[in-house]
Amino acid sequence: MFIRDLFSIKSPVISFEIFPPKKEYPIEVVYDTIEGLEELNPDFISVTYGAGGSSKDRTIEIASKIKNEYKIEALAHLTCYTSTRAETESILKELKINNVNNILALRGDPPAHGFEYKKDYEYAKDLIKHIKEFGDFSIGAACYPEGHIECDSLDKDIENLKQKVSCGVDFLITQLFFDNEKFYNYRDKLIKKGIDIPIMAGIMPVLNKNQIKKMVYLSGSSLPKKFIRIIDKYEYQPEALKEAGIIYAAEQIIDLLSWGVEGIHLYTMNKPDVANRIIGGISKIRCAVTEEKECII
Ligand code: FAD
Repeated sequence: MFIRDLFSIKSPVISFEIFPPKKEYPIEVVYDTIEGLEELNPDFISVTYGAGGSSKDRTIEIASKIKNEYKIEALAHLTCYTSTRAETESILKELKINNVNNILALRGDPPAHGFEYKKDYEYAKDLIKHIKEFGDFSIGAACYPEGHIECDSLDKDIENLKQKVSCGVDFLITQLFFDNEKFYNYRDKLIKKGIDIPIMAGIMPVLNKNQIKKMVYLSGSSLPKKFIRIIDKYEYQPEALKEAGIIYAAEQIIDLLSWGVEGIHLYTMNKPDVANRIIGGISKIRCAVTEEKECII
């Protein structure tokens, strides 16, 4: 199934993001993660491509397994900054052979050391054009409610996003954010600019202080005062901080659902137990309202 078709039959669409294990770990470790997430009946699972130092080589293999063995729709992330068109084409062919029809098309970040810019692509939109020329995929792209970290202003970033979307993007997934008001204001701005494709809210539960520092550094996401108070209060009590992080993410999602969000994309960090606490818990609220026996949000 194409993910673009999901939004007309399901609201909200629920997805999980996982990352491939590093090369030194056996690939099987990720199967436990997928099995844990499978129980939550997601609409799709996405697999990152080289993000945070994870392996690029395993994205296709894992996406294929999700689609063909677990029978869950798969979204393969793909970056282009350091790739040639020939390398991209060979990946696109492999994805098609494996029946993986959905791609999150990204520019990617330059690697820290020994970076060789191959100049075949400058921005994600160049990759999106290439995928459209190549064949029929449902294409997602990234967007940034607080602006991309390299861009001078949110308005300029939205102008760039508009160009990207016009190249053939079906849906957007946001960078993580901790303040829902930022997302709501952003959504309004996009509508005013004529960007009205579905947007999935990217939510990351914060489980420890180092993770918060790293994520804020990488994403530029701002921390609301109430969030900072929680971190300050539980900084030296890791279990309490983890619980507070789970509850904070769940509250964010409940608020997004009551607002009428089109999709929730949970950055699971390969922790199905945490996804279960958040999505499983929220699902119970929905079940209580609808009185359906089996329902996930
Ligand atoms: P682009 O859309 O190309 O934008 C990059 C920058 O260029 C922005 O500042 C934008 O404003 C600017 N820009 C765009 N077009 C123009 C133009 N025409 N003129 C001037 N400036 C322009 N990274 C990975 O390596 N692997 C992953 O799996 C991965 N998954 C991700 C999933 C999500 C949901 C998100 C939000 C991010 C993910 N990333 C991943 C990170 C992403 O690669 C980085 O944020 C990267 O810096 C930007 O990628 P992009 O596709 O948004 O780039």
